[in-house]
Amino acid sequence: MTVRAAQPPQIKGWCPGAHRPMMSGDGLVVRIRPRRARFTAEQALGLCDLALDYGNGFVDLTNRANLQIRGVAPEAHEMLLQALNKLALLDADPAQENRRNIIVTPFWRAGDLTDRLVRTVLHALDALPELPAKVGMIIDTGPVPILTGNSADFRFERSPEGLVLRADGCALGRPVTEATARDALLEMAHWFDRHRDETRRRMANVLTRHALPQGWTTTAPIQNQPPPVPGETQTGALLGAPFGQVDAAALRALFETTNAPALRVTPWRLFLLEGVEMPQTSHFITTPGDPLLAVDACPGAPFCPQASVETRELARALAPNIKGRLHVSGCAKSCARRTAADTTLSGRDGTFDLVKNGHPWDEPDKTGLTPDVILAGADL
Ligand code: SF4
Repeated sequence: MTVRAAQPPQIKGWCPGAHRPMMSGDGLVVRIRPRRARFTAEQALGLCDLALDYGNGFVDLTNRANLQIRGVAPEAHEMLLQALNKLALLDADPAQENRRNIIVTPFWRAGDLTDRLVRTVLHALDALPELPAKVGMIIDTGPVPILTGNSADFRFERSPEGLVLRADGCALGRPVTEATARDALLEMAHWFDRHRDETRRRMANVLTRHALPQGWTTTAPIQNQPPPVPGETQTGALLGAPFGQVDAAALRALFETTNAPALRVTPWRLFLLEGVEMPQTSHFITTPGDPLLAVDACPGAPFCPQASVETRELARALAPNIKGRLHVSGCAKSCARRTAADTTLSGRDGTFDLVKNGHPWDEPDKTGLTPDVILAGADL
């Protein structure tokens, strides 16, 4: 396929957080990072209330397994921060918030290897060098890796013999134990920091120019499995949120009916109600195979200033009739999905470009499509 732009559109070099929200078309986007992929029921209910009081009534699940409240008025930000602090969801400062860019497998149990390793890593954060804001970590140390498809510069996984610390871009990693994990992580982070430059700010880029030290690429992790699908798990009920958007009032009602003790978050637009069976709900996806699970769509217009088209209503209407993965993007920036989709509709100047088997920034197969034409059966 011919590429319309030489490179994918550039994305901002920082991630919005609670301390440093991002301005969008509908107000501030305030992102909250969980510890151990878990919010207690009190914290989850508090976030629902904050989304209803200060945001647009939805809590978004992000692809870094964070939660975000959007549509916050700038003058309400300080009050929101105070409320997050009361819920013990605010880091001491923006630097600490940046360092805590960690995705954790949601299926850990209290006191297990993952739980212990997360504690170790959280205690090591202050000893990390100053790293670019997007540099992140994954702790994927359940029985088999399930977060392989998610981006991370440093990743802990199980190997047949124990644990492995793997740098992004390498199939093999460095064997470690629980006792050596902290020092190995710090050593790898400092090595990365010494070798990065202005154009190579992520581990995979650095490794295109520099080889890792001997012994850091000797051990394969256990074969990974695909991410889970909605349904009951040993940890609780795993539910899907279309487009990652969780209706705060509906989530609040679920907590009230199930008495779930906690919410766990994932990077797959799924959330887990800890310790309960699958509840009855029409707001969320409870079974595998729902067409909306195969659809990505960013907020689009009028919520994002860069969008000239509405996205999610169109995506919802198209979902049952599209084969394969559908991506509806408000513009070529492609916030909702970085990898290719079978069918991509990308907004430009008020109409859509159609790209088959590609990205929003690829050369389109068709241009100038209106929603009416698309819904009337344009050959997608
Ligand atoms: S992809 Fe969507 S959310 Fe991202 S900038 Fe474009 S319109 Fe906005």
